[in-house]
Amino acid sequence: MPPIAKEQAAIVQQKINPSSRQKSQPLLSLGPSLYPERIPSHWRQRIDWNNSDDPLLRQVVATAAEQEQITGYVTDPLAEEQAQPLPGLLHKYAGRALLLLSHSCPIHCRYCFRRHSNEATPTRKEPSWQAALEWIAQENSLQEIIFSGGDPLMRSDQELSRLVQQLAAIPHLQRLRIHSRMPVVTPKRIGKGLLHWLTGSRLTPILVIHCNHPAELDATVLQALRRLKEAGVLLLNQAVLLKGINDSVETLATLCERLVNHQVLPYYLHQLDPVAGAAHFQVSNSDAHRLWCQLQARLPGYALPRLVWEQPGYPSKRLLEPTAAESGSGC
Ligand code: SF4
Repeated sequence: MPPIAKEQAAIVQQKINPSSRQKSQPLLSLGPSLYPERIPSHWRQRIDWNNSDDPLLRQVVATAAEQEQITGYVTDPLAEEQAQPLPGLLHKYAGRALLLLSHSCPIHCRYCFRRHSNEATPTRKEPSWQAALEWIAQENSLQEIIFSGGDPLMRSDQELSRLVQQLAAIPHLQRLRIHSRMPVVTPKRIGKGLLHWLTGSRLTPILVIHCNHPAELDATVLQALRRLKEAGVLLLNQAVLLKGINDSVETLATLCERLVNHQVLPYYLHQLDPVAGAAHFQVSNSDAHRLWCQLQARLPGYALPRLVWEQPGYPSKRLLEPTAAESGSGC
């Protein structure tokens, strides 16, 4: 794993005070940041505070590198503002529409492609869910509604239950997909109330858990996943390929194997979206493809995530293809 800049590592070591490990106040701040740190207690407890390369630490701690202005890294890398027929409703791909149910998250991941829209605009008006429901009801081509955010599970079970009932009453909808880091970040959120509305409608429930590193899968998280599985939820994972965090074949293979062992299908490995402030997490396309080839050689097909990237204006996510030079490498 490449070391972070020596200077930053020294600051981390300086600021890490083992006696503060279990305290709830923010511990680290390596540089001024537009996106404040947020580290929930369950995540905080799993960090090895004596290791500045800890993969959980590096996902959440703001570094001076976030202040660098890099050409091509922008505040809205997927041009989502242009794909919203109504505020809070995204329609990018055929058959699916996405509701941005919350602009807050239990954790602030430093690489997040929505880091400039999540809570960055506190004066944002709450979208009208009634208008979104009417739009969805008229769009007969839709089969699936995706709850996204921020983290949609920041909403209360009562609000989510009401919304799911309204969606289930729309005849052409078949599936409900939730994208949430909550099962790995705050697993206690996966309680009876959540399972009730998630599995209690006629819509097929799917949950995508966004786990990037095997260290995120501790016993409490695995119990939360088991509760979801036993309730009948289809569990998928999409990970983001992150330099210095999971860009090794060993880490990725362990992640995929552990996920499959616990009945979570690792369906996507994402190239980073080029969001301003996260360029230091970028793995080059050629390195990403080389890693994926090594992963392919190690894993059974069902455990191998598709290596994808997203570009605004395309009808789906795109497979990351090898360059002409790489295609002769035998992968
Ligand atoms: S939980 Fe998801 S939406 Fe929230 S900061 Fe992390 S990556 Fe972004």
